[in-house]
Amino acid sequence: MKLLIVGGVAAGASAAARARRLNEEAEIILFERGQFISFANCGLPYHIGKVIPNRRQLLVMPAAAFRARNRVDVRTLHEVTAIDRAQKRVSVKNLNTGESYFESYDKLVLATGSSPIRPSIPGADDPDVMQLWTMPDMDRIIARVERGAKRAVVVGGGFIGLEIAENLRELGLEVTIVEMLPQVLPTLDPEMAQPLIKELRQAGIELALGRRVTEIHRASTEETIESELHVVLDDGTEIQTKFVVMSVGVRPNSELAQTAGLELSDRKGVLVNEYLQTSDPDIYAVGDAIAVRDLVTGDLAQIPLAGPANRQGRIAADNIMGRRRVYRGSVGTSVVKLFSKTAASAGLTEKRLQAIGRPYHKIYLHPFSNATYYPGATQMAMKLLFDREGKVLGVQIVGEKGVDKRVDVVATAMLAGMDVFDLEELELSYAPPYGSARDPVNVAGMLAANVLRGDTCPVYPDQIPQDAFMLDVREPSEMEEGAFPGAHMIPLGQLRARLQELPRDRQIVACCRVGLRGYLAERLLKQHGFNACNLSGGLKTWKLYHGE
Ligand code: FAD
Repeated sequence: MKLLIVGGVAAGASAAARARRLNEEAEIILFERGQFISFANCGLPYHIGKVIPNRRQLLVMPAAAFRARNRVDVRTLHEVTAIDRAQKRVSVKNLNTGESYFESYDKLVLATGSSPIRPSIPGADDPDVMQLWTMPDMDRIIARVERGAKRAVVVGGGFIGLEIAENLRELGLEVTIVEMLPQVLPTLDPEMAQPLIKELRQAGIELALGRRVTEIHRASTEETIESELHVVLDDGTEIQTKFVVMSVGVRPNSELAQTAGLELSDRKGVLVNEYLQTSDPDIYAVGDAIAVRDLVTGDLAQIPLAGPANRQGRIAADNIMGRRRVYRGSVGTSVVKLFSKTAASAGLTEKRLQAIGRPYHKIYLHPFSNATYYPGATQMAMKLLFDREGKVLGVQIVGEKGVDKRVDVVATAMLAGMDVFDLEELELSYAPPYGSARDPVNVAGMLAANVLRGDTCPVYPDQIPQDAFMLDVREPSEMEEGAFPGAHMIPLGQLRARLQELPRDRQIVACCRVGLRGYLAERLLKQHGFNACNLSGGLKTWKLYHGE
């Protein structure tokens, strides 16, 4: 068996190492056009910010160590330029010497990853307009900061843009993020991104949301590297900066596959079957380069994340070495740190569900990371999307502690095909420093199940009927936290005694701080014949929609 692997980072290195573990006899050659294999691209922003002080820590396994441990012929600075499927061989260019040669294969794995999109903006080819994708990219940004840059513009407010902005800000730079959407982190719905926007502003990062960069030019006519860049936005604003980092998304590196006649998806991801075989059964493809099955919709999607890439590499190697293993698909579970906040999600957002016309229900909750009587508990905002059968369609959580744990539990449940009724019943670890006897995931399941069982009718800040009667059931002392405009106040404890104050011909929207007392009021009122519903997540959700 002669196995060739193209691309030596997450998916490719995983495939090579696994193949060797299963087959000691195979000849395995790993081609990587860059200088490094198996490096931690996810760690790059944190070396810029000096959180990871030692550059070598990013080299998860240097080529020599990988070669020695796995007996894999690692060829860095070797680019595979073509695939001849008829003769089962690839053309390789040695980037050190410029020589080209052929290498034959029995099986071929394409793990070519993705590349950052370079938007066609005038001036984007300036050397101070950078990207962060590889170790050399990182070195260039660090060199620019060390040469005294005090201002940076990050274009794109997705994961990588946010991580770059945070790390540059932590180094003391003035940072502006320009994002064409009216929010950051598009894997969240707009209201769920509000706490991140607040966090960014509190950290002193300028935001230009809903704005596009139309042009970048140098201030001085002398095109010296030290002159300032002017980043021009579509409303005419000009931002002066020393350098720009473009982080506006990625596209799959599928040209090699395309030229070889392999089938691609509409979004140019390499098409694979459940065994990760391309349209040529001797060629497998893995990682960012492929189109994966979105487990919620069943449709094809590009989900460029390190976890799926690593697992796909392993599964492809298993299949090549004669084990039959299926890659089921992905729910796109992701998490990002932003100063003191953590934001995480899995599955689809509400805006995506609306775009594809898929019916859904949603609930908001604002649980604590752990028992509130134990020091250090922090509150999170959680949104669960589900359908009328109880299938979980998506989850989004923003908070400080415990966000990653809850998103992972829900994502695991989604992969296992569990529904909201299962979430209610999950047995999760609990002690006061770590959680609550009713974990946020259980509570999310209970709230969703309450909706489906007809026990509650949630309403949302943007969907309150005009003639609804807003009933605030908090205590008067809580008004300092904020008021619901026009709401009638009856604390929950007095509600039974004051029912005569309420209209029987209008919808009553019960509201409180986080939605629990509103739900209790709703239950009480319904049993007394009122048309009542509950503001999902209470004032906390209200503030996500309407600000503080
Ligand atoms: P890559 O890791 O990109 O590797 C592909 C390799 O193939 C490249 O090194 C490329 O040089 C090589 N190659 C391509 N074509 C050829 C060719 N023709 N010949 C030879 N070699 C070739 N994901 C997360 O899940 N969490 C994170 O926190 C996270 N943070 C990130 C932060 C940054 C700054 C970056 C850049 C990415 C981050 N990612 C994160 C994404 C994650 O790194 C990728 O999803 C993952 O690396 C994809 O693995 P891959 O093997 O498919 O592609």
